[in-house]
Amino acid sequence: MIDIIKETEGAERIAIMGHVRPDGDCTGSCLALRRYLKNAFPKACVTVFLEQPSELFSYLDGYDEIDPSFLEKERQDVCFSLDSSTPDRLGDGLRIFKDAPKTICIDHHISNNGFAQINFIDPDASSTCELLALMFEKKYMDTETAKALFTGIVHDSGVFQYSCMSKRSFEIVGELSEYDFDRTKIIDETFYQKTYVQNQILGRSLLESILFMDGKCIASSVDRKIMDFYNITYKDMDGIVNQLRVTKGVEVAIFMYELHRREYKVSMRSNGKVDVAKIASIFGGGGHVRAAGCTMNGTVYDVLNNLSLHIEEQLREYDD
Ligand code: 5GP
Ligand code: MN
Repeated sequence: MIDIIKETEGAERIAIMGHVRPDGDCTGSCLALRRYLKNAFPKACVTVFLEQPSELFSYLDGYDEIDPSFLEKERQDVCFSLDSSTPDRLGDGLRIFKDAPKTICIDHHISNNGFAQINFIDPDASSTCELLALMFEKKYMDTETAKALFTGIVHDSGVFQYSCMSKRSFEIVGELSEYDFDRTKIIDETFYQKTYVQNQILGRSLLESILFMDGKCIASSVDRKIMDFYNITYKDMDGIVNQLRVTKGVEVAIFMYELHRREYKVSMRSNGKVDVAKIASIFGGGGHVRAAGCTMNGTVYDVLNNLSLHIEEQLREYDD
């Protein structure tokens, strides 16, 4: 555990950053920590440097103050890295992080080897927000902080569904529910609700998905032409891989979208037998046992051939 107040006391400028393509846990943890530090140190300048998160999270306090430009010239006294498994995943934030005289890393990715001066990495936690909740002192917490932490836990646990939810995680959710905010609204509007076009691309991905390896693997992909046709970004395809995963009989679901010609962002989900973090890390990515990702080169079929070899190998070992 880190004494966040002690480590930031006296700092005039505090930077908070998370990983590229921020999700609910990344956005929630950055904004929760910002609010908490502002409550504790009203005179400090606390800045969240982060790629623009989805509009879905605009109800969180501090959303409009996020700096997605990373152009800050002033040196930061303390810099936090949240929910990022490697320094590279900080994207343009890495420059600010490297310049800071004091760095703190808080994360729950198993592949994180603790790249800051002070590290708190717990792969058993549901989310980075859970770790912040553990460390936050009640007297600097408020409804806005609780809302942001709740959002992160909801998103990284698939609404409390995944095995990453422990007794401790549920206890923290219980404590957060004592604050006065609309939990159902957050779950409905940020997790389940889809725009019409998001549902269209989900439907299309399911329709065009292929089953292979005797129905143990399912895969689907979206290329640039389709993304341009529907006028969508990666944010509109969140959740597709999870829907693929719940196909009966499937052990591993793969969803990919084209970043550039012959370059794909790959998302993988496992139902338990296969460690997809291990496979993602072979291709320079990472994540968790049941949810991981990486970027791969080649055609869709090249990518699937490469991944299949490792999935097959793990399934064989599991059955032996
Ligand atoms: P998603 O499939 O939802 O994008 O990501 C699932 C998990 O894998 C997340 O915890 C995410 O941080 C991690 N992940 C996804 N892509 C990458 C990647 O390229 N590199 C690393 N290190 N982790 C990734
Ligand atoms: Mn996370």
